[in-house]
Amino acid sequence: MFTQFVVKLYSRCNFGCPDCYVYEHRDRGWRAEPLIMSPATMRRLCVRIAEHLRRHRPERAQVALHGGEPLLAGPLAVERFARGLRDETEGLPTQVDLLVQTNASLLDRAFLDVFRRYGITVGVSVDGTPESHDRRRPDRGGEGTYAEVARALSLLRTPRHRPLYRGLLCVIDIEADPVATYEALLEHEPPAVDLLLPLATWQFPPHRPPGAGDAPYGRWLAAMFDRWFDAARRETSVRLFDSLLDVQLGGTSSSEMWGQYGADVVVIQPSGLIEYNDVLKTVSSLAGRSPLHIAAHDFDHAAADPGFAAERAGLAGLCGQCRSCPVVDICGGGLRAHRHRPDNGFDNPSCYCPDLRFLIDHARKRLTKGVISLRARLDRKGMSA
Ligand code: SF4
Ligand code: SF4
Repeated sequence: MFTQFVVKLYSRCNFGCPDCYVYEHRDRGWRAEPLIMSPATMRRLCVRIAEHLRRHRPERAQVALHGGEPLLAGPLAVERFARGLRDETEGLPTQVDLLVQTNASLLDRAFLDVFRRYGITVGVSVDGTPESHDRRRPDRGGEGTYAEVARALSLLRTPRHRPLYRGLLCVIDIEADPVATYEALLEHEPPAVDLLLPLATWQFPPHRPPGAGDAPYGRWLAAMFDRWFDAARRETSVRLFDSLLDVQLGGTSSSEMWGQYGADVVVIQPSGLIEYNDVLKTVSSLAGRSPLHIAAHDFDHAAADPGFAAERAGLAGLCGQCRSCPVVDICGGGLRAHRHRPDNGFDNPSCYCPDLRFLIDHARKRLTKGVISLRARLDRKGMSA
């Protein structure tokens, strides 16, 4: 079963981010896609999603309008899709969360009116400080985009629109200061922050600054974790950290970074092609492709496809090193794309293995210390835990 549907309404972007996995890595499939999803494909897709949810009746499902830049489709196209989805899923027991993940450069009142009418929440991609963001998220002319994104976020934060504000998505910039990055994100008063490791594989490893040791991303994240964890009040939710603490305490992860069970994500291109998790585009030009199309296949058919099954293989899908790792319950081998090598496919630990281990151990130490001091406080007050 799928509960996360990533919908590409539009196949291009007005930004030219040098690290974009859609346009700048190995995959070139976007060139064969129509610019925009047609009304007929939208209708078919909404019917397919609704029939899948009707059959499986999950408590919640998420439909995300994703990049390319979805707002390039225009408010009318977004409204057409949202209306179709809400009509088709009306009366189902599943709560359908509809969201848009955007670079926000085109976000204006016309879009926000549509979002409010159809209950669409907004996630905005911002890479930390203005310097980081301008360097990593330029427009097609090479100009920085921080100022326009900050303008859009000010509009989103106004009391009228604030309920639509879902949060920020930040790709880690190892050259930036982690605490300054966190505090720059806080300036936009996000209800939540998602952090992403830069997409990498064993063949195309992550940038590691010279002399930074074997776990620079782990150390970077640990420094941000401490700033977040030690704040006198909870400033925002950082999903990567919240989920890490949840799984350390025996709960479930809401981030695909942690836990063993893989992602139940399906991607639908503007043409109606069904694809695997988008992040596989970083592996090779064909790694994200499935042989399926919504005109001929429903999502049950897709779920049985070996490529989707491999995403959910859990412990059995991990390499020997991961299966015998003491933190496998928490780490789950990292994102599947990060495990890839050309000679043996995905039968490897993550190319971020030392970083993941460093952060897991760090969070565990902080959590243990916190529990010990809570216990001592309770003992002093004569209350047993
Ligand atoms: S804004 Fe997103 S989709 Fe557009 S180029 Fe940048 S990373 Fe790629
Ligand atoms: S990627 Fe590394 S830390 Fe994670 S489960 Fe595998 S061996 Fe353990």
